[in-house]
Amino acid sequence: MTMDEKTKKTKKKLDLNRRAMPKQPARIRRRNFDEVALGYTAEHAIAEASRCIMCKEPHCTEGCPVDIDIPGFIKCIANGDFLGSIRILKATNCLPAMCGRVCPQETQCEIKCVLAKKNAPIAIGRLERFAADWEASQGRVEMPEMRPPSGKRIAAIGSGPAGITVAGDLIKLGHQVTLFEALHEPGGVLTYGIPEFRLPKRIVRREMDYIRKLGVEVVTDYVVGKTKTVDQLLDKYDALFLGTGAGLPWFMEIPGENLCGVYSANEYLTRMNLMRGFAYPKSSMPIKKHRRVAVIGGGNVAMDSARTAVRLGAEEVYIIYRRSRQELPARIEEVENAEEEGVVFQFLTLPVRLRGDASGWLKEIECLRMELGEPDASGRGKPVKIPNSEFILPMDAVVVAIGNSPNPLIPNCTPDLKVGKNGNVVADEKSGRTSKDRVWAGGDIVTGAATVILAMGAGRIAARSIHEHLTGEKLVAPAQPEPLLGETQSKT
Ligand code: FAD
Repeated sequence: MTMDEKTKKTKKKLDLNRRAMPKQPARIRRRNFDEVALGYTAEHAIAEASRCIMCKEPHCTEGCPVDIDIPGFIKCIANGDFLGSIRILKATNCLPAMCGRVCPQETQCEIKCVLAKKNAPIAIGRLERFAADWEASQGRVEMPEMRPPSGKRIAAIGSGPAGITVAGDLIKLGHQVTLFEALHEPGGVLTYGIPEFRLPKRIVRREMDYIRKLGVEVVTDYVVGKTKTVDQLLDKYDALFLGTGAGLPWFMEIPGENLCGVYSANEYLTRMNLMRGFAYPKSSMPIKKHRRVAVIGGGNVAMDSARTAVRLGAEEVYIIYRRSRQELPARIEEVENAEEEGVVFQFLTLPVRLRGDASGWLKEIECLRMELGEPDASGRGKPVKIPNSEFILPMDAVVVAIGNSPNPLIPNCTPDLKVGKNGNVVADEKSGRTSKDRVWAGGDIVTGAATVILAMGAGRIAARSIHEHLTGEKLVAPAQPEPLLGETQSKT
């Protein structure tokens, strides 16, 4: 074979290959909070989009809870029509830069891509991120068509992905929307949970600015259930959407959890995000530096906590997980990133007791070895304790990241709101309607801790139902994909 033929063959092979995401090298990013993934260039994006074979009956769209015309936006990118691609994306998704960064595409749209069977699927999320970042880099954000004012007023409670989606969809339909947020910054978990190195706060602010430009009024420092109750708001608004998430952390309920140096992942990550620990030394550091840190859990929240501990300068960082590698609910990409950054995984391990020193600071964790038994309700092997397998891990800090449930504040002061297992608000899957008249709900408050895109999907469904209720006009229903294993953060 001549050199030319060899080059052609390699090129052909490369063309089939999915474009890797350029990243900061692990040894550098371990010491900063800058975004790890650097994003595709226009050349990368066109090359990746050109791999799409434009199936006559595409399956990728079936995997998208917000019903994006995936082949349509990819085709635009392949043709270099970036404006066309962002128009398509924003027709059904008001948060493309965020979804492109954090959605578990590997279990949603990309798993359905026909190329996944032979080669690697199209990098749909990376292309979505590219289109959104390209639009922002142009310094001009296009506004969608808006319907004339309907005279109806809606209150969306909670400014996470569910509340933002409801607000964005309803304002475009001509309704007046106010988004109430308990914290001083809107964005929900996108702002207070997901770290800067995965989702920079300037991106969240950019997408929140877009929502404000659409005309949504955003009211912060407003705790529904304290500042005003649901019933008081219903006196002023025609309909109310509850999207207050699942912000109440679970603990392991083992001895020693009240020792100094034991955090919930919520506290750990919220301090770093909202108290701007990531900007240290320009900002003060809201968390003590610990030498050995163990994070309990195997989801995205656990990976985020462990990688934050690495950046805070811990010398040893462990993920302690009671099942095996295959069952880790975190995104594969984030597990790989954590490993590259030096996080050590202790699989099939269960903490049973935390011990402290004389001053009340954590000193060590007593653990048990586990094995996997028969499948449990989640379909995964049930972790079973191995008798007499106790061992000790010396540790200075523990971050508990085993799941969350909804805060009971609103249900407690809204007696006619039906609440189910773990305090989740009960809402109809197809409409988001709750047991209370004129009140809808969606996102983590209904499902328990899940994903950004499922919260957005629920927001779209509720917005459609609210609009139908207020105007009598029927809108086309978005598809409702089944949640897949690995999407639920609380599946520890
Ligand atoms: P939230 O985002 O929780 O927003 C709810 C908002 O309501 C909050 O801002 C809260 O302050 C506010 N609120 C609560 N009570 C009140 C009240 N009484 N009055 C007014 N406001 C109130 N998902 C992914 O898809 N990919 C990931 O990579 C990913 N990583 C994650 C990492 C972390 C650290 C965490 C915690 C979660 C992660 N998730 C991820 C899950 C995802 O972020 C959530 O499923 C999603 O944000 C849920 O959206 P939501 O709108 O239902 O609620």
